[in-house]
Amino acid sequence: MNLSERVFRNVIGSTITIYCKEDTLCLGLVKKRITLTFPKRTVHMPVTYRLAKDFNVAANIIRAQVTPNQVGTLVVELQGDIDQIDAAVEWMETQNIEVSQATHEILIDEEECVHCGLCTGVCPTQALSLNPETFRLTFTRSRCIVCEQCIPTCPVQAISTNL
Ligand code: SF4
Ligand code: SF4
Repeated sequence: MNLSERVFRNVIGSTITIYCKEDTLCLGLVKKRITLTFPKRTVHMPVTYRLAKDFNVAANIIRAQVTPNQVGTLVVELQGDIDQIDAAVEWMETQNIEVSQATHEILIDEEECVHCGLCTGVCPTQALSLNPETFRLTFTRSRCIVCEQCIPTCPVQAISTNL
């Protein structure tokens, strides 16, 4: 089946991808990126296994900061039926896992940036651009989908995320 992706960004910043057939028939299968914060006692819980087994939701781990017996943070992209994802989020909240649907943000260190423009070449949404008059970098946060493609392009490591 030929599926095309439609990517939406909701009001609280989550990126939502809907798969559609021939641009008309949408399947209700979505991708949603969220941040999970685990309290000490749940840090060992096999959350991704439970999401797959109990909710048929695939969890692709984007980034993890988990230290044994301490608070852990996980950025995951959930993929599945939207109702199942909502149910999975509800279940995680009952397990005292903090679920943040506001995604992390891109940070630009203005002190470090040398306005070379390299990052603008990879940005798929034109969130990064060079001002044609001043030749200085402009970052339009509202256009950023936090794909992180710009991070490795910066020669002076001026781009990072807040996670
Ligand atoms: S994270 Fe992606 S969308 Fe945002 S500024 Fe970087 S390349 Fe552009
Ligand atoms: S690649 Fe880095 S130094 Fe160059 S414009 Fe982008 S943020 Fe600035």
